[in-house]
Amino acid sequence: MAGHNGWPYANVPLEVVGWAVRDRATLQWTDNFVDVYVNIREGAPQCAEPCGRFFNQNGQYPNCPGGVARHYDMSLWLTAGMGGGAGGDWGQRIGSEYYVGALNSENIHILLHEIGHSFGLDDFYDWTPTGVGGFIMKAGSATQITEFDAWMLRDWWRHLKARYGY
Ligand SMILES: [Zn+2]
Repeated sequence: MAGHNGWPYANVPLEVVGWAVRDRATLQWTDNFVDVYVNIREGAPQCAEPCGRFFNQNGQYPNCPGGVARHYDMSLWLTAGMGGGAGGDWGQRIGSEYYVGALNSENIHILLHEIGHSFGLDDFYDWTPTGVGGFIMKAGSATQITEFDAWMLRDWWRHLKARYGY
């Protein structure tokens, strides 16, 4: 996206700002340099909703202990026994067994697909353009982000950039 059609970012930094656990002792460190949430929702550890962007869409975090400075934008919600995944503006949810088993993979393709949803891309099953083999947003047809996925994101930007003053 960098350099394409007025896209305003040269890069998008990623920072892990919190961990959610069932039991604090799971973590093999004791400092709280990043926030640790001992919190369960729907049977899986989840970061605290008062600190999540999805749950505070006005940008205020009055019930987050660290306020705006300690909020998170997205969460990766690992869920034991979950097949497939889910993704949205709140983050991604995938099976913890799948994720741990794929940690050494260059492309954790279900996660890539769900991150696509987090960035606004829809499932795209209606048709496959001529000359395109598969792509990550057509689940099961590709195991890595393809040039066609990049064009889906460019198209999203083409339609929505005016909303953001570009
Ligand atoms: Zn999907």
